[in-house]
Amino acid sequence: MKMKLQQVSDNCFAVLNEKNRVCDANSGLVNRGGGAVIDTQSDLYHARRMIELFGKVWRGMPSRVINTHEDGDHVWGNQLFEGAEIIAHRTVPERMKHVADPTETQKLLEGADRFISRLLLGAVHPGALAIARQLQQDYDFSGIRLVLPTTVFDERQVLDLDGTEVQLIYVGPCHQVGDTIVYVPKERVVFAGDVIFRQCTPMGWTGTYEKWLKILDLIIALDPEVIVPGHGPLCGIEGAMEMKAYLEYVREESKRCFGQGLSALEASKRIDFGPYGEWRAPARLYMNVERAYREFRNEAADAPWDHAKVFDAVLAVAKAKGIAVEF
Ligand SMILES: [Zn+2]
Repeated sequence: MKMKLQQVSDNCFAVLNEKNRVCDANSGLVNRGGGAVIDTQSDLYHARRMIELFGKVWRGMPSRVINTHEDGDHVWGNQLFEGAEIIAHRTVPERMKHVADPTETQKLLEGADRFISRLLLGAVHPGALAIARQLQQDYDFSGIRLVLPTTVFDERQVLDLDGTEVQLIYVGPCHQVGDTIVYVPKERVVFAGDVIFRQCTPMGWTGTYEKWLKILDLIIALDPEVIVPGHGPLCGIEGAMEMKAYLEYVREESKRCFGQGLSALEASKRIDFGPYGEWRAPARLYMNVERAYREFRNEAADAPWDHAKVFDAVLAVAKAKGIAVEF
C-alpha cells in the first residue's frame, strides 16, 4: 500500500492513496474541536494506516466521522471509530446495505483464489477475475463489518469545530445517491468525495450528467484554494474543470456513437481516449458511455448495474485499445 499524509491548510489534512486505482480512496481530517475524519478507506489495513498517519497530527481519535457517500471504499473503515458520531446524507444507511455489502467483494476474491472457481470465473466473467486479481495485490476485505451512520441530514449540516465552520452540502445524486461535499470556508478547502476523480477515470453509479456538471460548477463557485478529491492527488479548481471537460467530451462522443446505432461497448472501443488516456484506468470509460446511453434511452438514473458485466466490458475496451487492463 502506498499512502501518504499531506497538509492541506492550517487545520485540514488528507491521506492519499497514491496508486489511484479502484478502491484507492482518499480520507480527510479537519483537526479542530475534537476533529472530524472524512471517509474511512476500503479495508481495515488501509483504515489502520490512515489512523496512524493522521495520528501524527491529531490529539486523539476524532469524535466525528463523515461519509461522503455510500460506496464501500469510503465507509469500510467505519468500525475502527468506536463510539464516534458518523454523519452522512439521509439516504446513505439504507443504500450502504445494498452497495457496500462487504461479503460480495470478499466472495469475489475468495473465488479468484480457488482453482475451480477461478477457471469458471475466468470463462464466464474474465473482467471480474481481472479486477479480483488486481484487488488482491493491495486489499484484504476480511473482518469488515458494516457500521452505518448514526446521524443523518437532508440538505445541509453545519458543524462548529471550535470556531471553525464545516459545511456538509448534499449534492447527490451525481456520482452516487448520497454524494456530499465538505466545505471549510475559513480555510478555503473542499473535500469533494467522488464528485471529483483526479488523474483517474471517474466511475459513476447513479445520477445524471447534467447534475454532475452542475455540482462541479458549484464547487468552482465556492472558489476553494485546495480540493481534496475522492480519488487522486490534491488540486485547485482546475481539478473540477478537468472533470467537467472529461464528462462533456464523453457525453458528446457517446451521443455521436448512439446516433450511429453503436452499442455502448462498441462506442467505448471506438471513442478516442484523447488526453485522458494518461489517466489511470482509461478503459473505465465504458461506465461513462453506458451512463450517457442510459440517458439517451430515457432510462432511470438509478437503474442497477450488473457489476460482472461492467468489469468484462472494461476488460474488452482495454483489449480493443491494446493496453493492459486496469480498474
Ligand atoms: Zn470512491
